[in-house]
Amino acid sequence: MRTGVCYFPEHWPRERWADDVERMAAAGIDYVRMAEFAWSRLEPEPGAYDFEWLADAVDLVGDSGMRAVLCTPTATPPKWLLDEYPSVRQERPDGTPLEFGSRRHYCFNSPAYRRESRRITERTAERFANSPHVAGWQTDNEFGCHDTVRCYCDDCASAFRAWLRDRYDTIDALNEAWGNVFWSQEYADFHEVDPPGPTPAYHHPSRLLDYSRFASDSVVDYNRLQVDLLREANDDWFVTHNFMGDFEQLDAFEVSADLDFAAWDSYPTLHGQRAPDTPDPADATAATVQRVGDPDVTGMNHALFRGASGGPFWVMENQAGDVRAYPYSAEPADGMMRLWAHQAAAHGADVVSYFRWRRCRFGQEQYWGALNNYDGSPDRGLPEAAEAAAEFARLPDLDAPVGNVAVLFDYDSMWALHAERHAPEFDYWAHLRTYYRALRRRGVTVDFVPADADLDGYAAAVAPALHLVPDDLAARLADYVTDGGELLLTVRSATKDEHDTLRDELAPGPLTDVVGARVEQHESLSPGLETRVEFDGDAYGYRTWAEWLVTDGATVVGHHRSDVAAGNPAVVRNAHGDGHATYVGVWPEADLADALTVDVLDRADVPICDRLPEDVRLSERDGHTWVTNFRTDAVSVDPGSNEIVLGEDTVPGRDLAVVAGPSHAITVERS
Ligand SMILES: [Zn+2]
Repeated sequence: MRTGVCYFPEHWPRERWADDVERMAAAGIDYVRMAEFAWSRLEPEPGAYDFEWLADAVDLVGDSGMRAVLCTPTATPPKWLLDEYPSVRQERPDGTPLEFGSRRHYCFNSPAYRRESRRITERTAERFANSPHVAGWQTDNEFGCHDTVRCYCDDCASAFRAWLRDRYDTIDALNEAWGNVFWSQEYADFHEVDPPGPTPAYHHPSRLLDYSRFASDSVVDYNRLQVDLLREANDDWFVTHNFMGDFEQLDAFEVSADLDFAAWDSYPTLHGQRAPDTPDPADATAATVQRVGDPDVTGMNHALFRGASGGPFWVMENQAGDVRAYPYSAEPADGMMRLWAHQAAAHGADVVSYFRWRRCRFGQEQYWGALNNYDGSPDRGLPEAAEAAAEFARLPDLDAPVGNVAVLFDYDSMWALHAERHAPEFDYWAHLRTYYRALRRRGVTVDFVPADADLDGYAAAVAPALHLVPDDLAARLADYVTDGGELLLTVRSATKDEHDTLRDELAPGPLTDVVGARVEQHESLSPGLETRVEFDGDAYGYRTWAEWLVTDGATVVGHHRSDVAAGNPAVVRNAHGDGHATYVGVWPEADLADALTVDVLDRADVPICDRLPEDVRLSERDGHTWVTNFRTDAVSVDPGSNEIVLGEDTVPGRDLAVVAGPSHAITVERS
């Protein structure tokens, strides 16, 4: 494991560069990411390139024993490009073009922008192809940031029609698949189909879903264009992209298929505050989120991008102080640069790179914290980052974590569910995190996999709200259970087909045989309504969504106990072949989620630990287990027969220990 930092030499006078770079090396940093938004300095005028300043910075980094990670500068097309080709601008659904003046104002489907992107990528890659100091590349920056995956311009309309023609072949097939007889929405030809712009009522869900897929695919294509050029210039380089946390609009699995590994930008206090399943900032418990983030929001994104990578990933930007992002931006607690770095490493990050080296003196990010203040003096995070780097150097190189439980993450299902939430609180990320939190409080290593992944090798699989289940996916899940797998399905699963339409039969449609039950009624529930359920003889609470089940061979293991739902089956278990399917017809509160997952893990013979204290997590990587304590108070660690190789058997608040042994052998208690 290594550390890195993001640096913008073009923001600083040359005479400062050497001192900055020297101090980076002294802090134990190995990688320096540069040129992220530098198009106006790399090509000040059309066709007039200036790479020498960047080459000097790269040499300086290399001469100090570090390696450079360069970026294609395409997130910020310069003014001359916008003036020359105004059609490259994205358009909002109402046709408003995005203006020059910030970033990400380009359209992924613009032929002119693709041509210009190809040109700047090619020329920059050529210039640095023989530099021994460049380790690899980041394509663009944060695809989709500021709600920019989905564009509604004429180029996108044309590309969408071509995408639909490719998918459906005939317009009759599209009309049939979507169900366009509803509200007279039938089309006579593909050229009549527009992107979903403003309309009085809500849009046709099948059209929205396909537009979501098309928009994500457009980014995949655009990214591939850059990846191919970079590989052509030097195939020793790695190519990655820095994704964002809890980001809905872009399928990270699909983009990552073209990358060597995925990277993501981790801002724990920002993501924690914005997640719908973390405490309201007005609550007394919010101090943890504002000072350290929500460990499971951060952890789930680490797991997702490890899944997208198919192995180790990078954190390309790690929060290095307060951030200029709403709603609030408290200073992180003491020790967080080190604890966040270790948390990422424990989840499989090979490099944790801080954003940024020095707080900027101008522009939109003057209030975005850094390892150094804008006067160049070290900020609070720098000594902590240096300590993490020194500790990484003492630990052995480790392979990525390998989970024995898979969580199926399905962007199509999320897009469909978020288009028809049926309750303000129905959020896909929050629903997944209900089960992720339960698994993590038992020390389980969780792999995030796409819905069509091969599940062989996983003793248990959790498929939260797997809403869209085509027949071939249903067949694979059935085979998994038949062959001995333990499958946990939750609310709204297999309700619809791949076109976001209900089937002739009740949910879970093609999985009814495996589940041994059907969903007869469903309801979304406001927080004020009574929601009680009984599972395995104990009473629990649930939230947001409930289904009343009817069995057809399954064993009822949970009943509704409140209001009009009382008496109806709520949780069923069905033996199918050599395995079992469990269907949970409520959105469980934490204690029920724990009981449900322990029940499945027991049958799957997955070893677990005692339920961990709140905000303490065990993360196992290649035979080493990190104990990360995000609490304010200390916890005591009993490592069993294993040795503690970093830290002590008492882990202070906002601190950590590393044990050379598996997570299930470790006991953690509040001191
Ligand atoms: Zn467009």
